[in-house]
Amino acid sequence: MKFPSKQNNVLPIRSFTILLIWCLAIKLSLCFSSFPSSLKTLNVEGHFCFDNNEFAARDFGNRFRFLPSAVLHPKSVSDIATIIEHIWQKGPGSKLTVAARGHGHSLQGQAQAPQGIVINMESLSRQEMKVHTGRFPYVDVSAGELWINILHECLKFGLAPKSWTDYLHLTVGGTLSNAGISGQAFRHGPQISNVHQLEVVTGKGEVRVCSEEQNADLFHGVLGGLGQFGIITRARIALEPAPKMVKWIRVHYSDFSTFARDQEHLISVENTFDYIEGLVMINKTGLINNWRSSFNPQDPVQASQFKSDGRTLFCLELTKNFNPGEADRIDQEIESLLSQLSYIPSTLFMSETSYVEFLDRVHAAELKLRSKGLWDLPHPWLNLLVPKSKINSFAEGVLGNILTDTNNGPVLVYPVNKSRWDNRTSVVLPEEDIFYLVAFLPQATPLSKENDGLESLLSLNKRILDYCEEAHLGVKQYLPHYTTQEEWRAHFGQQWEVLVRRKLAYDPLAILAPGQRIFQKAISTL
Ligand code: FAD
Repeated sequence: MKFPSKQNNVLPIRSFTILLIWCLAIKLSLCFSSFPSSLKTLNVEGHFCFDNNEFAARDFGNRFRFLPSAVLHPKSVSDIATIIEHIWQKGPGSKLTVAARGHGHSLQGQAQAPQGIVINMESLSRQEMKVHTGRFPYVDVSAGELWINILHECLKFGLAPKSWTDYLHLTVGGTLSNAGISGQAFRHGPQISNVHQLEVVTGKGEVRVCSEEQNADLFHGVLGGLGQFGIITRARIALEPAPKMVKWIRVHYSDFSTFARDQEHLISVENTFDYIEGLVMINKTGLINNWRSSFNPQDPVQASQFKSDGRTLFCLELTKNFNPGEADRIDQEIESLLSQLSYIPSTLFMSETSYVEFLDRVHAAELKLRSKGLWDLPHPWLNLLVPKSKINSFAEGVLGNILTDTNNGPVLVYPVNKSRWDNRTSVVLPEEDIFYLVAFLPQATPLSKENDGLESLLSLNKRILDYCEEAHLGVKQYLPHYTTQEEWRAHFGQQWEVLVRRKLAYDPLAILAPGQRIFQKAISTL
């Protein structure tokens, strides 16, 4: 028997090592092929990642997946400015685009950058939050900060932001790029009406501080600007004294116009509720019974006799803030306000909870859905802003007609006052003083061919949009999504020219927010 010589052993190892290095080299060159090597030489405090970037090609909508060439995890504002300025200097010779990614809770790939660079804004959130107390309190935060963290920080000073979204695990930059609407918006306006100052990196890589007084056009452009004019890096947000507790109330209607009339009444009276929203329930037997664990019926006997029997019901959801010692006075105010409404008397439910628990309520639902594996499903959401004069026609045509049940997810309906919005911002609104947010928020069951399947839910959205168009309801999409520039033009209407002017001023090469698909980067083929 012949033993293999030492020389024979070394040869295969050497060949294997060469093969391995060669493979690695190919992998690296593939990785970097669409990523200019000049970017790698830039001096940044943070770092780039070229692998394992699948998270940056995902979002809450779970329908669009475009992988970037790289993800920048910035440590400072100058990291962001350096990268963008470099791409700007390259001119139309470079294909690279840049998307700021907040918490990635977009619905249709808006925070993605196909083959471009995604900037993970949450890396910036490690910067300190600074709360300023006094007569007009405010907080300075990084735009990558989550609203839930801002709430906790401000509460240490007995303060809190004034205007919210229903869900707080979203970043400041992400919601300010849209509007940030919830049940407080009728009083305080959306979140974009509660910002004093921003720091922004434009599409030319310039760092600009802007406010009503300084660089006002950029300030207004960026608010609700869908990330088109700059990356928000810091924001100064208005605060108010935070209450400790809320009284949380639900009452129900079987008639939409009475429900809407009461909502409109409540948003117009003095000393009203602190939060006003509405919920549609179609074909949802037993829902009210399910609430009994967290809400107490005002009249338990009557409430137990109430049967929804699959009827369409409209739930008005209200809160009143209070502090310990004020409960009796607040109860009287609530009684007086409720006495002005025409809900079904047996359907009054009340609860009491901490302010934080109320504001973070959707997170509690998230944890439940996550535990059942139901959070990461596709979400074909549709958010509409419907003018007040058309809301009854909308309800008649859509609720209970096109939409025959609400088993796939909540449907919200509530009015807001346009007077609390600033018409110089980029957000697009219907042409009336009061309009409703109507949010269809379903989740799709994978592979289902039934009503809960993705295709079916998307075609339902299309039918709703077609109906609005044919009936000339003057509806605008909130969190809009379009694929052609014609559609975007129609969405912006008279504001299109302002949008184009601002784009030319602040991001003339269309480097920023490619996932919105409004403008395409001009690329020279020379
Ligand atoms: P991302 O999805 O990461 O980004 C959204 C867009 O903003 C992208 O185009 C991105 O490029 C851009 N962007 C992100 N950060 C910046 C920045 N710093 N500077 C410039 N551009 C930036 N909205 C409401 O108004 N009210 C609600 O009650 C509400 N509830 C929601 C509940 C849930 C469960 C979810 C998933 C969404 C909800 N939304 C609500 C929508 C939400 O406000 C938007 O989807 C928001 O954009 C998500 O924030 P984000 O941090 O995840 O942003």
